[in-house]
Amino acid sequence: MNKKLKAEAVENLFDWATSQVAKNAPYPIQETEETIVELTKKFQREHDLVVDGVIGPMTYSRLNTWHESTKDVPHRNYEEELFELPAVNFRVDRTFYDKCHNKKEPKDRKQKMQRIVTHWDACLNADSCIRVLLKRAVSTHFVIDNDGSITQLLPVNKIAYHASGHNDNSIGIDISNAYYLKYADWYKRNIGERPQILSRVHRSSTTHLGWYPCQLTAYKELCLHLCNKYGIEVKVPLDDSGCLITTVIDKPDKWKGIMCHYHLTTNKIDCQGLELDKIFKKDED
Ligand SMILES: [Zn+2]
Repeated sequence: MNKKLKAEAVENLFDWATSQVAKNAPYPIQETEETIVELTKKFQREHDLVVDGVIGPMTYSRLNTWHESTKDVPHRNYEEELFELPAVNFRVDRTFYDKCHNKKEPKDRKQKMQRIVTHWDACLNADSCIRVLLKRAVSTHFVIDNDGSITQLLPVNKIAYHASGHNDNSIGIDISNAYYLKYADWYKRNIGERPQILSRVHRSSTTHLGWYPCQLTAYKELCLHLCNKYGIEVKVPLDDSGCLITTVIDKPDKWKGIMCHYHLTTNKIDCQGLELDKIFKKDED
């Protein structure tokens, strides 16, 4: 791109982005530079961004997500895609549904569905996870709480914002886990002692909080159900000796099966320590 074109593109981007901020204003405004700076700051404050009044890459990307999520689409019977498992509770959070997913609904999503991406929420429980997702206008399809109960946030035929670049053909599952050892006491007092584990990801080892057994049971049950329903292979990323790969896999775009977020990018470490190989070990008998 030559210099002039680049400057023009940046200018267009700025116009668009500032108009988004302006649209967010509760009253008509004059788009003077000062007002835009103030509105940008307000947007940044509301979205947990660095409040500097400058529309940099982070603010721009958040504006973009926010813009997408505010597009009006007529309501459908969104419960038609929900289903029940014998051992879990499902509830749909309507506010969440209204705000946090890609409103485009590709007809071939079901045919394209090829993977389950597993995350942790870095929150103390599912409710706080849902609040954080809402605030950041991102999403996932399922959250598994500390007691193993499952909340479905979006129908599976909707595209959630959980794994950048891989959302179109994936289902997102978040297993609630605040990860850091500093939360061990909170769990002990409020829920029950959470396992602590030493694990590796992207060639470095850390001791961190693990999962309650009931969460793993619910996760396995949910994955098997989804795999069966959407024709996803029950397969996890293994190396030649049959051990779980603990970093980004070869050709992550082509992967079909169950995986962790860290298998897609070195920028993510969730869910380090989640033993997918053991959870989905084929029964020999
Ligand atoms: Zn993640």
